[in-house]
Amino acid sequence: MVDVRGVHKSFGRLEVLRGVDLQVEAGSVTVILGPSGSGKSTLLRAINHLEKLNRGYVSIDGELIGYRRAGGKLHELKEREVLRQRTHIGFVFQNFNLFPHLTVVENIVEAPVSALRRPKAEARAHALELLARVGLADKADAYPRQLSGGQQQRVAIARALALEPKVLLFDEPTSALDPELVGEVLDVIKDLARTGTTMIVVTHEIGFAREAADTVVFMDGGVVVEQGPPAAVLDDPQHERTRAFLSKVL
Ligand code: ATP
Ligand code: MG
Repeated sequence: MVDVRGVHKSFGRLEVLRGVDLQVEAGSVTVILGPSGSGKSTLLRAINHLEKLNRGYVSIDGELIGYRRAGGKLHELKEREVLRQRTHIGFVFQNFNLFPHLTVVENIVEAPVSALRRPKAEARAHALELLARVGLADKADAYPRQLSGGQQQRVAIARALALEPKVLLFDEPTSALDPELVGEVLDVIKDLARTGTTMIVVTHEIGFAREAADTVVFMDGGVVVEQGPPAAVLDDPQHERTRAFLSKVL
């Protein structure tokens, strides 16, 4: 359902993505591993069309993201169209990015009400369900600053789910957390995995990859070096670069 084909992205003369291909099936969990600077965040941003591509394309359920095809060429979509497409692509960042002046439940209903024109009462009821799902039913009226980092990240996940995205992208969702808060966030993501949410997760948590991933992708130097089931990539890597990386993080 997520189809990344031959994606190239440069910043000036720096070629960051050098022909990335990635296919993600509906309901599956893909974990992306790779050294710093290998292009993982840029790839997630390309999927969301937060970056324009130099070559290649991304499609989700057959719909091109950020472009339309006409006369054999790709033309950029208008910002309004891209925003509409992004409502179907959830993004959870390292630093939560909650609105500090809104309560937890207000953070969650904001997008469904403003972007999808959902009635407020309905959006609120759904938000409360999502909060229960991430174990924060009692925090609906708290402000983000009153929550731990792990709780804030769980709110950010509930907020992403409120738009009922086709796919959920995570960029190092636990790397800004104190170690004792990592587990509660990974547990929520594992729970989503069990219920068939399509997810692409950039993380350095190898244990999580082993437990929750259907596919582990190893990126280095702007390309996918190797991918496969966790046991294959993590325990029997075929490429020297994968072995070298794993020997440092395991
Ligand atoms: P990390 O594990 O450190 O998060 P990453 O794999 O996510 O790394 P990216 O953030 O995708 O790596 O960056 C890949 C390369 O692209 C880096 O060299 C980075 O400096 C460069 N880069 C990313 N965004 C920009 C930008 N907007 N302008 C210029 N260079 C950029
Ligand atoms: Mg990154």
